[in-house]
This record gives sequence, C-alpha cells and structure tokens, in this order.
Amino acid sequence: MVKQDNRQKLVVLGATGSIGVSTLDVAARHPDRFELLALSANRQADRLLEQCLRFRPRYAVVGDAETAAELERSLAAAGVATRVGHGTAALEEIASLPEADVVMAAIVGAAGLAPTLAAVRAGKKVLLANKESLVMAGALFMSEVRRSGAVLLPIDSEHNAVFQALPRDFARAGLPGCGVRRIVLTASGGPFRTAPLARLASVTPEEACAHPNWVMGRKISVDSATMMNKGLEVIEAHWLFDAPREAIEVVIHPQSVIHSMVEYADGSVIAQLGNPDMRTPIAHALAYPDRIEAGVRSLDLSQIASLTFEQPDLQRFPCLGLAYRALERGGTAPAVLNAANEVAVEAFLAGSLGFIRIAEVIASVLDAMEPVAAASLDVVLAADRDARQLAARTIAGLQQSAA
Ligand code: NAD
Ligand code: MG
Repeated sequence: MVKQDNRQKLVVLGATGSIGVSTLDVAARHPDRFELLALSANRQADRLLEQCLRFRPRYAVVGDAETAAELERSLAAAGVATRVGHGTAALEEIASLPEADVVMAAIVGAAGLAPTLAAVRAGKKVLLANKESLVMAGALFMSEVRRSGAVLLPIDSEHNAVFQALPRDFARAGLPGCGVRRIVLTASGGPFRTAPLARLASVTPEEACAHPNWVMGRKISVDSATMMNKGLEVIEAHWLFDAPREAIEVVIHPQSVIHSMVEYADGSVIAQLGNPDMRTPIAHALAYPDRIEAGVRSLDLSQIASLTFEQPDLQRFPCLGLAYRALERGGTAPAVLNAANEVAVEAFLAGSLGFIRIAEVIASVLDAMEPVAAASLDVVLAADRDARQLAARTIAGLQQSAA
C-alpha cells in the first residue's frame, strides 16, 4: 500500500534569523508533521548551506546573484539537489508555490513586505513574524487576507497571546461582538528601563542589543530598547484584531512571563503565560489548532516569585509616542515611521547615530511628510522610499552639525 504523505509543506522566509532558526528547531521535532519545502536568507550563505544540507529543501533563495552562485557551488559539491534563486521575485515565488501549505514570514523589516503579501495573496497559512509589513500596509494587507482566504496567525509573542485569549470567531464577530473591552500588550521595557536618562546619550549598540529576557535579531533588539517595538506592535494589533487605538493599552512587565492579555466586558482578564521563548508562539501557530511539543521548559512560577507592572514613561521612550502619533495620523504615516526607524536604527548599529537621536530623526521625518491614503502598494512603497531618503539626509545633517 502506498503511504499518503500528509505532512505540511513549509516555507521559511528568513530561515537564518532568530525566528527562522527557532522555526526549524520546532519543525525538526515533528518530522511526521512538517516537510521543509523552501528556505531563504539574505547573505548568510554558510548558515543557509548548513540548513539545506540538514533539511534538503526543494528551493533556497538568497539576496543576490553572487551569494546564489556560492551556495549553488557548495550544494553541487555536496550532491544536494536544492534549486537556488535570488532576489525579490524569487522570494515571492517561493512564498506562493502551489504545493506550499504554510509560510513563515520571518524576514526583518520592509524587505519582508512583498514576499509576505505574495503568500497572503496565494491564500496560504501565513505565520506573521514580520510585523513591519503590517505596519507599512495594514489596510491593504488585511483586505488581501479577507479576499484570498489566507489564514493569518501572529508569531509576535504579544499578538499570539492575544490570539490565544480571544474566542475563535473574533474576526467574524468583531471585538465588541465578542465582549472585548481592551487588549493589554505587555512590554519588557528593554535594557534601559531603569538606566539614568543621562546615560542614554552614550549607550552602545552592544548594550542596546543585550536584551534582559529575549535573544533576538539586532534590529528588533534596538527597537525593544527604544520601545519602538511596542509602538509597532500597537499598530500591528490595531490591524490584526481590528481594534481601535483606545482599546489597546501598553503596560511594562519586566519579567516577560505574561505575554499579553484580553479584558472582557464582565471584568475578566485572560492572559497567556510562559517562559520567554519564541518557540512557544511558533509551535502554537505551526500546529494550530493542535498543540505540539516545542522544546520549551515548564514555567516555574515559584522560582520567578513576583510579576510586576508599571506604566511606560513616554519621556524615556519617545518612540512609543511617535508610533501612537503615526497610527492616529493614518494613511502612509505608519509606513513613514517604519522607514525612518529602519534607517535610524541601521545608523545607530553602524555607530554613526547616537541612541537618543533615533527618536529625533523619526520625529523630524514624520512631521515633514504629510500622510496620504495608503491606497495601493505603490503609494506605500513610494512613502517608504521618500522617508528613507529624508531620514538619511536628516542623519547626514546631524553628523555635519556634530563635526
Ligand atoms: P534576524 O535579523 O535574526 O533575521 C532576519 C532574517 O531575514 C535573516 O534570515 C536574514 O537573512 C533575512 N533578511 C534580512 N534582510 C533581508 C533582505 N533585505 N531580504 C531578504 N531577507 C533578508 O531577525 P529576527 O529577530 O529573526 O526577526 C525577524 C522578524 O520577526 C522581524 O520582523 C521581527 O520584528 C520579528 N520578530 C522577532 C522576534 C524575535 O524574538 N526575534 C519576536 C517577535 C517578532
Ligand atoms: Mg513582540
């Protein structure tokens, strides 16, 4: 008798990153459930090669032709038949392969928008880690989800927690229809929550990336230190759950054990708890609606002993206020916020912009660019491009006045 292969065919965009590696870790624990169909990376050919040798995907995609040629040579030498492509078109292709069931969208930043949208348009089960794509083009993104029938599952731990605390039919009934009063997103406060304000001007990229609870990619680590990450997550929650700004609250919870909460009209608050390990939301979404082993150790509450909460201080974390401003302005403002943030964070990581200047650059770009309706992808991408140019000019201006 021929045994039928019921395994889910999985595409991992951004396989070499923090989320990508955790995704492969969970998938590898369940070879009976998941088969790796395609993997992507930007320039980390060595890491992607190792992954290809281990998982033997049918396709691999990298950022440029040179990296592709290098990977192709190594794969041929090892006798592995993975087909190699490069560039955005190839990413969009693997994101929408007819035989793909599940797409993990774990590219960092605006580069993730086109391939994530391709997966949505192809009606896939899309596991969304790339929050930037929803921040940039939320209205378009969600209308494509509804049109294509794609199943969108949040990987961001907060949104995954909210998803778990909501009833299954929340998208059809709407939050008020489900009796939801508000969503409470928890934030760790990052590495500088209690640092003297005067210290912030001189913190280094290494200090900013040393997150107290999570090990993540460098861009999101800096976003956590400025709390722009929470600002992006407020915008993400607005689109994912169709929640008005007033119904989304942020509370600092330094232990990162409660990943977020939903409060209902009767006063009940439902929270999702767990150790801070991204394999939990990844396993939840991969197997949804089943539950599978993720390799995450049990939560030991008596060892943690206390869970604490505090209000975020918008003076310490001006980026959070800027994200609220962008969401209130609407249209292309969140895309502008995101683009200016990406450019400023890159400059900070490169050592050419001070930490507290990140918010100043974003504020000046956001104020200079009048938002327009985010009516098409072209309009969003044009706003992204203009905001990047303006942010780069603003940073150059700051460097000149400092010299
Ligand atoms: P990372 O930097 O560790 O990995 C990013 C991945 O994207 C890598 O595989 C890299 O090769 C690829 N990539 C980078 N630039 C690219 C480009 N221009 N074109 C194509 N591929 C490119 O990042 P990460 O921490 O894994 O985060 C990935 C996404 O998940 C981000 O959007 C982040 O906000 C989100 N997220 C991450 C975490 C976490 O714990 N790391 C938690 C929640 C959400
Ligand atoms: Mg998060």
